[in-house]
Amino acid sequence: METTEVRLSKSSRVEYKEPQKIKTIRIRDIFLVGIGVLAGILIGLLLPSRLPGARIALSDTLLADGEIALEAINNKILEWESGYSGSTGLAALSNRSPEYIATNRTFDAAQALGTLPTGDQESFVSSLLENTSEPEEYIRARWRLYKIIVGYGLNEIQGLAVEAFLRTPRQLFVREKNLARAYHDTWLSIGYGATITDPDVVAMMTTTLDVKPGMKVLEIGTGSGYQSAILSNLTNEVYSIEIIEPLYYETNELYKELAAEYPSYNNISRKLGDGYYGWIKYAPFDRIIVTCAIDHLPPPLQQQLSPGGIMVVPLGRPGRQYIMEVKKTVDEEGNIVITRRDVYNGLSVKFIPFRNESGTSYSSK
Ligand code: SAH
Repeated sequence: METTEVRLSKSSRVEYKEPQKIKTIRIRDIFLVGIGVLAGILIGLLLPSRLPGARIALSDTLLADGEIALEAINNKILEWESGYSGSTGLAALSNRSPEYIATNRTFDAAQALGTLPTGDQESFVSSLLENTSEPEEYIRARWRLYKIIVGYGLNEIQGLAVEAFLRTPRQLFVREKNLARAYHDTWLSIGYGATITDPDVVAMMTTTLDVKPGMKVLEIGTGSGYQSAILSNLTNEVYSIEIIEPLYYETNELYKELAAEYPSYNNISRKLGDGYYGWIKYAPFDRIIVTCAIDHLPPPLQQQLSPGGIMVVPLGRPGRQYIMEVKKTVDEEGNIVITRRDVYNGLSVKFIPFRNESGTSYSSK
């Protein structure tokens, strides 16, 4: 909040003067005083709207794409889109920390990888029609979206990320009212002020993360579950943390429901909690993906990243971040070296804030 310092100028000091001779009041003087008073009232009414501060903050909250972020920061009651009313459902109840830990794994990413034809549309479509219950229109829509992302020419989707992306039914992770937009390249509301990330950004973050079978991956911000579902095609050990309690439960249920057809989702260990502190019990992680915005690298996450590991994180101030690839290496003298690289050609993104349990953003304003 800006503060304005008011100083009295020399000329505005009130000084006492000896009364001089009494003047006679004329009609012209009354008229002039009247005009002065009116002008004063007008200036008084108009001035506040031109001052920076509260009004600017208010108009920011009304900007469509700043809306989610600011609502979340302020931890307001959200009835927005989801129809959910009540608190934002933060995991403030620290004594309750439900979790699901993957044990008895029935899916092996290493075996499945490479079995989906990704070279041409028709072989891809017929393979999925044969092996899943997905309607053809969604399978084709996903192929088209993949081609659109490739067409951007930004190398956002490459290597194993292609198969992981093409295997993952985004329509099952969006809210019902957004089904028609499941394969538009855009983020969508999933309630509670959270969003499912834009497919091209998911593709790029997955490509950058460069997950190989056998690696241990930690995601901060489970949200809809879409990103972790993609990752579960690449390795058997995916861990994900979500801070919004009802969202944690919704996605947990969804994974359970879908696991019959997509057994890789059973390999996703998940918990309700504050991901700022990572998941020490299962650390270190070969890969960490942060899907909420923060202006610094949380020290616990740096610590829990294996030497040689990669972290992908939207780094920047609230409202504007850059997708960073963070690498942790150890030099000849045994020092830990952290390097950062913008992987999105300087393009900015807007993720919802990384918040603590009381709803406050971890980023300084
Ligand atoms: N990866 C998600 C993106 C969800 S948006 C998807 O694929 O749908 C980001 C998510 O980060 C939100 O669900 C938000 O609640 C969560 N989040 C914010 N701060 C967090 C924290 N401290 N710990 C864990 N999750 C957090």
